[in-house]
Amino acid sequence: MSIPKSPHKILTLFGTRPEVIKLAPVIRELEGRPQIFRTINVASGQHAELFHPFVRLFDIRIDHNLEIMRENQTPNQVCARVLSEFEPILAQQEPDLLLVQGDTTTAMAGALTAFHRRIPVGHVEAGLRSGNVLSPYPEEMNRRLITRLATYHFAATEHNRETLLQEGIAADSIFVTGNPVVDSLNAILARKPRLPRIEEILSSTSGMKRIVLTTHRRESFGEIMEGNLRVLRRFVERHDGVALIFPVHLNPAVVEKAKSILSEHPRIHLTSPLGYEEFVFLLSQAWLIVSDSGGVQEEAPTLGKPLLILRENTERPEAIQSGVARLVGGDPLRLEEMLEEAIGDESWITKVGKTENPFGCGDSGKRICQILESLVTGPAWKGHGRTQTNAD
Ligand code: UDP
Repeated sequence: MSIPKSPHKILTLFGTRPEVIKLAPVIRELEGRPQIFRTINVASGQHAELFHPFVRLFDIRIDHNLEIMRENQTPNQVCARVLSEFEPILAQQEPDLLLVQGDTTTAMAGALTAFHRRIPVGHVEAGLRSGNVLSPYPEEMNRRLITRLATYHFAATEHNRETLLQEGIAADSIFVTGNPVVDSLNAILARKPRLPRIEEILSSTSGMKRIVLTTHRRESFGEIMEGNLRVLRRFVERHDGVALIFPVHLNPAVVEKAKSILSEHPRIHLTSPLGYEEFVFLLSQAWLIVSDSGGVQEEAPTLGKPLLILRENTERPEAIQSGVARLVGGDPLRLEEMLEEAIGDESWITKVGKTENPFGCGDSGKRICQILESLVTGPAWKGHGRTQTNAD
């Protein structure tokens, strides 16, 4: 007979900035119910410089750090290190459930490690699909694998739920909760801190149409990224009232192209990666966002800002259907056309702010926590963590 454990131990594993942004609201809610839950927060260390400022910003306690970061490691090396470093933590902690988020190799390898130990896995942001296993790579495959490994699926939208159902996932294991990025973004917007670095950029671009750019995805590297950056420079040169602000990702492939193509123009501002408060405030002051990021596709509708997506496909069609985002594809000349269309007829830009946010209203963390509470305290809870592992 299994001995009921109380409070229930929920272990989270995360290693990149989007995972921190999206798990923080869930962790906060879980930690607000100490009589029901005990949290164990584990960092994989997949990213280092871009990760720790986010952990500090959201005030997340790190109980274990797997410290798997190595220069230029491959997805297989990340996966192997997570599998070997995470297992002893699971063995020591024996959580009731592992929560992972999204599509990183940390999340996929963590879910596999938990599965091997028969620990149930909850997947936040489940059911996203681009339809092409090689793009985004390796994230699209990671998502699909996590779906197979997970016990509970927290889908952001109805469309994500439909996708999971079509893949044969049981309806009673899927919960539509919105995306916790909206919770985090709202919390950050409410803070209104002093941000000298951004205030300086905003004052020097005051009255201009600001384009905020991010690009760092592997699929964009090489000719596509080079072409897109040249198009953006030409666009700024052609239009006196336009400024470009580009927080440049630390990846050397991006830094090198950004410096060689975009330097030395008074209306082009290159910065190092921004803190989340800085970045969100900058987005809120944009005329247009141009990005290949996944999270930015959810942030643009939340802020009511138009977005050109620098990708061939998207796993977030809701942003396009809501009218906020447009898909550029892989041809820089198409980007040029779309930029000219946007400035030639601003009706799209002005209409965007008025649409409903398809990714929720900022209560996702609470909803996921309430669902977890009813699961772990309900009659159907199998408690298959410690009990079955010990029985093996
Ligand atoms: N972001 C940030 N500072 C920056 C650029 C991006 O805080 O200089 C945030 C952005 O708001 C988004 C997240 O980082 O929420 C996106 O991370 P990334 O593009 O690495 O991952 P993806 O969203 O593509 O999975």
